[in-house]
Amino acid sequence: MTELPARRLLLVHAHPDDESINNGATMARYAAEGARVTLVTCTLGERGEVIPPRLAHLTGAALGAHRLGELRAAMGELGVEDFRLLGGAGRYGDSGMMGLADNDDPGCFWQADPDDAARLLAEVIREVRPQVLVTYDPDGGYGHPDHIQAHRVAMRAVELAAADGWEIPKVYWNRVPRSVAEEGFARLLKDLPDLPFGRTATLDDVPGVVDDERITTEIDGTAHTAAKTAAMGAHATQIEVAPGRPYFVLSNELAQPVLTTEYYELVRGERPDGARETDLFAGIGEAS
Ligand SMILES: [Zn+2]
Repeated sequence: MTELPARRLLLVHAHPDDESINNGATMARYAAEGARVTLVTCTLGERGEVIPPRLAHLTGAALGAHRLGELRAAMGELGVEDFRLLGGAGRYGDSGMMGLADNDDPGCFWQADPDDAARLLAEVIREVRPQVLVTYDPDGGYGHPDHIQAHRVAMRAVELAAADGWEIPKVYWNRVPRSVAEEGFARLLKDLPDLPFGRTATLDDVPGVVDDERITTEIDGTAHTAAKTAAMGAHATQIEVAPGRPYFVLSNELAQPVLTTEYYELVRGERPDGARETDLFAGIGEAS
């Protein structure tokens, strides 16, 4: 068997861009520290709304192909070499926003059998043998069908891989502490007149916001702020980052703060002393 790096982190996301928004600083930090960072993205996001008018002609498969290029560029910014599409590019289609007719497309991820998709992910888990897996909460953070499905598939794959000999010691869900989101929006409101954005989003627009007590882990990635914002900027069809400022908009044009300390809730595995962790690999022995 080929030699694996000592620390191995697997992230499961729905669309290209989710990884950079949620975990860009974490991914850049662990990649820089020599951990193996593996990203599995479930769809190409070919139903995403395109922001720049110069790219507005991109739809469907052409948008998917373009977004794969954006993902590649973003991973270059984060220093992540191992990124994959679940089942290969185009295996699962973007399901569109909840409640749209797109959700019924037989080729979309929402219509996939979660067990089939989980088997594909379990193959990756058996190959990479991560000690840490990061994904969304059961609501997918904000109710998008592909995010909900990514959660189901990831959690099912954890079980399948365990039954087959690789028990992932720690599983986390992406979170944002309410106090941090509130502070971020307060800062944003003050800076808004200097930004190229007209209005701000609200806490409800931020995926995974929970009461601070739920947070088990915070990863300080401020040293990798430039990498995170560059990776977000690489997803130009989906994200506009304010030049030189830690703020961005999605296609709804509502400004949000870029968070460079990223937060997690440990849902499987132990915290050694019950205190808030500052390392996703805390408590993992070198021998794992
Ligand atoms: Zn998404």
